[in-house]
Amino acid sequence: MTDALISLQGVQKYYGEYHALRGIDAEIGAGEFFSLLGPSGCGKTTLLRAIAGFEDISGGQILLAGRDMAGVAPNKRPTNMVFQSYAIFPHLSVEQNVGFGLRRSDLSAAEKTHAIGAALEMVGLGHLGKRAAHALSGGQRQRVALARALILKPKVLLLDEPLSALDRKMREEMQVELIKLQREVGITFILVTHDQEEALVMSDRIAVMFEGEIAQLDDPEVLYRRPATRRVADFIGVMNFLPGQAGSGGLDVAGLGRVEIDAVHWPQGKVLGACAVGLRPETMSLLYEGEVARAREVTGVIDEVVYYGDMTYYDVRLDGAPEPLRLSMRNVVGRDVLEVGAQARLAWDPRAMVVFPGEGGSPA
Ligand code: ATP
Repeated sequence: MTDALISLQGVQKYYGEYHALRGIDAEIGAGEFFSLLGPSGCGKTTLLRAIAGFEDISGGQILLAGRDMAGVAPNKRPTNMVFQSYAIFPHLSVEQNVGFGLRRSDLSAAEKTHAIGAALEMVGLGHLGKRAAHALSGGQRQRVALARALILKPKVLLLDEPLSALDRKMREEMQVELIKLQREVGITFILVTHDQEEALVMSDRIAVMFEGEIAQLDDPEVLYRRPATRRVADFIGVMNFLPGQAGSGGLDVAGLGRVEIDAVHWPQGKVLGACAVGLRPETMSLLYEGEVARAREVTGVIDEVVYYGDMTYYDVRLDGAPEPLRLSMRNVVGRDVLEVGAQARLAWDPRAMVVFPGEGGSPA
């Protein structure tokens, strides 16, 4: 990326002996919605705090707008952070909370009032300025925290699991609002989350981290459809893995049969021998009477049915496959949900297969 606002170059962090960041390289653009996604303890928060200046780094460089941030205090950086715990003052009003960030600015009283009003409008709280902060819902508090951060007009807003305390419905609403807000204000957002769905929904690009390293940095669709490693594939969404064996005559997939090696996707390059063949649930479907598969079909027995209202997950047992395959079907009018024990025809397509050499394969 040529117009990187943030450049992370070989960033290292040790806590004593513990190596928390192991050489992080990434470029984040102006106006980008960027997420750091990974399991607990992978170093996401450490990296975010290092960008904010709350954590010194042990090696490498962090550049913001081309300037090395080594030794630059958090309040001298063009960043502002919204914390997991919001850090709202309950005894102050909404306006006072939002204005807190301006206490050291040299704006006049009238300018401050105007800025507070504008920030509250931005997060949809224009009508609640006089309300005491303790009398707000979780979602409203989150908005106050956002307004307080935005009022300082940072170039980069750093968000550490900002929605984790909200219930599911409120979280989904706030996700949409955050995306809208980010587009409106046009500043760079860096979000830390362990919730892959949240990262997929919100981000322009996602860095997936494991053990202090970036395993893959891509846009959501590429991450989901073309995961670079089996571990990334497993972490993002649901992926079935079948043992496979790649030879000169083709790729033999347990339970599904032989496919052409060139028909499937090999993110790490083609290697003959044992491999793990990944297939997402929604790339397969059950065939009802009269329906024909567009690519390939196989017969199995339904092992498990999980009904979600709009969708049903089916686990289908196939001859020759070590575990049932999970697939998802949208529930539509006129199509019955099939029952456990029923015979089922399953449609699948080699083009949806992502193959990882040498992992969990077994000789065909
Ligand atoms: P979570 O989602 O649980 O917050 P995370 O990916 O944000 O996880 P970090 O908080 O960045 O993880 O921590 C990364 C690793 O560094 C963890 O193993 C953690 O125990 C360790 N760590 C974090 N802060 C310190 C510290 N101040 N001293 C020692 N070790 C620390």
